[in-house]
Amino acid sequence: MALMITEACISCDACAPECPVSAILAEDNIKNPYEGDYFYIKPETCVECVGHADAPRCADACPTDGAIVWDMPYTEAFESYYAEGNTEGSYKIREHKKKGLMLPSVKSQSFIEEIGMDLRESHAAVADSF
Ligand code: SF4
Ligand code: SF4
Repeated sequence: MALMITEACISCDACAPECPVSAILAEDNIKNPYEGDYFYIKPETCVECVGHADAPRCADACPTDGAIVWDMPYTEAFESYYAEGNTEGSYKIREHKKKGLMLPSVKSQSFIEEIGMDLRESHAAVADSF
């Protein structure tokens, strides 16, 4: 991970086509845990645009203040954070037929190391960081 979409999202679909790894799901996608309310970023897929762009493309495209915010890196250090979030329904981590739940211990993801943990823990708006 990862970035997170909040309830400020107006489901305009400006972000999803910009994602280089197809990590963003529309509000009506059955893999979206937010039950049709707003868009969702799959933390097990998002690479924070590392290797693709200088800043997250989705946040660049988003017209809504506070709709796309920082979340914790998708690394083993945050294994329980994502496992518990998945159990509680704030995430819907992909279940692989052979590998099981694709938690960070199965496959971690790139993240922007320069972004401080304070911004991630407080789910600060991504657009304010660039
Ligand atoms: S930060 Fe990049 S990889 Fe992650 S959801 Fe946004 S566009 Fe996709
Ligand atoms: S661009 Fe922003 S407001 Fe539009 S769907 Fe994506 S997160 Fe929601």
